[in-house]
Amino acid sequence: MASVTLEGVTKSFAGLTVVHGVDLAIAEGEFMVLVGPSGCGKSTTLRMIAGLEETSGGTIRIGARDVTQLEPRERNVAMVFQNYALYPHKTVRENLAFGLKMRGADKADIDRRVNQAAAMLKIEPLLARKPRQLSGGQMQRVALGRALVREPDVFLFDEPLSNLDAKMRVHMRDEISRLHREVGTAMIYVTHDQVEAMTLGDRICVMKDGVVQQVGRPLDVYDRPANTFVAGFIGSPEMNFADGEIAAEDGRPVFRSGQLAIPLDGAPQATSLRPGPITLGIRPEHLTPSPSGFAARVHHVERMGAESVLVLDAGARIRALVDRDDGIGEGDEIRLAVPPNRLHLFDREGRSVGT
Ligand code: ADP
Ligand code: MG
Repeated sequence: MASVTLEGVTKSFAGLTVVHGVDLAIAEGEFMVLVGPSGCGKSTTLRMIAGLEETSGGTIRIGARDVTQLEPRERNVAMVFQNYALYPHKTVRENLAFGLKMRGADKADIDRRVNQAAAMLKIEPLLARKPRQLSGGQMQRVALGRALVREPDVFLFDEPLSNLDAKMRVHMRDEISRLHREVGTAMIYVTHDQVEAMTLGDRICVMKDGVVQQVGRPLDVYDRPANTFVAGFIGSPEMNFADGEIAAEDGRPVFRSGQLAIPLDGAPQATSLRPGPITLGIRPEHLTPSPSGFAARVHHVERMGAESVLVLDAGARIRALVDRDDGIGEGDEIRLAVPPNRLHLFDREGRSVGT
């Protein structure tokens, strides 16, 4: 078991910098998720930790060891990829044992580790099968098993569930969580899927364009996003944004954007607000029908089963997440309110104001 520390880790390909000075400390036993849109540098960062990609600058430590210049096999990390890359002509048992055999482990030790991993992943009945006799979910279990038998200091995952169907993905997510609790080793998990990030991570690290935007516990990031990018990326349906002005009316701050006026007293940052341009953010689930709210017209309704998304015109196009039985339909004129402590305010650079 070990911690992982990145200090100023940078990567350039042919002069183009794709990872910009990443500082990140993953504690011993922690589950850290790197999350962000495709191309933001998640895999490159992970591959530098694994040693599959050289760094262009900065330092990587595993525990107290500086591993920046070490070969992958000297780092004692195990990586699981989206593509399982199992040996097609070997049985599951041989696939699990192969890496250990190549490292010269003795037979008794290999058997012990393979049997233990197979038990943990509940794949004992599959040990004699070949990969083509396995489902996608089963293959991914074997790929996990191959990492487990290594008994590494750190597990690295690069979108391991992307090839699975939605139901299997949810199932394997739970399995990986359970595995983490059982082995207690640090895990660094890359995904573009914010739901996966929120549900798996002890903490999440949100990246954009090779730059870390925010690191924190999932709900802290959700409740207090550092900027409009994080606010929009984490959460579904996405946060509503409206550009406008803060006006002082009777000495109290009010957000104004065209027809829309929302009082800001009671907002988390209310005391520090000065008149001027501002971006207001409201999560769809924080908008509720209320006679004292602002006016909006229902453009259409997306019915999702338990809940419905109201797509509304309120000067700007906004979305509200409501109970399916609210009885609101297309064309209705309604009023919506939001608790002031749920308002998010961002400056014109998109940075959260006051938090
Ligand atoms: P992510 O995993 O977040 O989708 P990557 O780390 O794979 O992103 O890629 C980050 C950026 O680096 C992308 O713009 C990608 O095109 C570029 N990149 C990745 N690997 C290479 C490479 N071997 N050569 C040149 N550019 C690369
Ligand atoms: Mg990637």
